[in-house]
Amino acid sequence: MAESLYLGIDLGGTKIAAGVVSVGGEVRGFARAATPAREGVEVVVRAMAGVAREAARGAGVSVKRLAGGGVGAPGPIDSVAGLVVSSPNLPGWRDVALGRLLGRSLGLKLSLENDANLAGLAEYRFGAGRGCSPLYYLTVSTGIGGALLLDGKLVVGARGAAGEVGHLVLVPDGPLCGCGNRGCLEALASGTAVARRAREAVRRSVVSMLTERFAARPSRITAAVVADFARQGDPEAQRILAEAMEHLGRGVAGVVNLLNPERIVIGGGLSSLGPLLFDPVRRAVARYANDLASESVSVVEAELGSRSGLLGAAALAMP
Ligand SMILES: [Zn+2]
Repeated sequence: MAESLYLGIDLGGTKIAAGVVSVGGEVRGFARAATPAREGVEVVVRAMAGVAREAARGAGVSVKRLAGGGVGAPGPIDSVAGLVVSSPNLPGWRDVALGRLLGRSLGLKLSLENDANLAGLAEYRFGAGRGCSPLYYLTVSTGIGGALLLDGKLVVGARGAAGEVGHLVLVPDGPLCGCGNRGCLEALASGTAVARRAREAVRRSVVSMLTERFAARPSRITAAVVADFARQGDPEAQRILAEAMEHLGRGVAGVVNLLNPERIVIGGGLSSLGPLLFDPVRRAVARYANDLASESVSVVEAELGSRSGLLGAAALAMP
């Protein structure tokens, strides 16, 4: 009997990626293309189908021969009803049954789940969270998202919105969040938040290497720039980053208190900060989480990088 292979498709605001994946997590065929985000649902679905077929060709199989598959998209996603409720990066998308639409066009049954949940599922099956339960996965990049897995099963909640620690309010009068509230973890500790704090400091002419370098163009400052300057010893960059990571650590400590997870895996762009992220987060967990829970958890960096979304999407259909 031929080996069972699964299709994973990851829809992002700027790119579509698809892979044909073995049960062991090997990507046998891979393809990607730009997302025609401005052209509406139909054009995007057609583009996704094209990328999926190309990945299947790369693996030397036809899509119809695949054992199943999944689709990941940025939230909010009602994974219980199978709908992309809306998407900040995909104008005009409202309650789109993406898995069913794409599945019909490919002749393959596809489930739909949000990208953070899929990255968490991938880390459980193939990456840094292998076999851990409870496992909590946190992605820290432009936003902050999360996924909770119990015995390897995603806990999605009543309508697919579980695990979203990014909108835990930590500072009631804090900075405005994309969700409309103030002081959410995402507004304090995401890459966007770190860059914004640094730009504000530069506009206030705070004495720092950041101001010297970016006074004319503060909008060029990214979280990666702040991290670079922190490593070079700029006290203001270090202060901004330390404060953000202290908030992140408090959020993670809250998760640890709530779930007593065996492991917390942190992925997303900011996880590459290494000790600048993990040291303060581990310190905050030791300080704010209760002893039993903090002694039994390990906080580690994700292993799968940018392919975690499509690996998780494929894993969604695996037995
Ligand atoms: Zn929020």
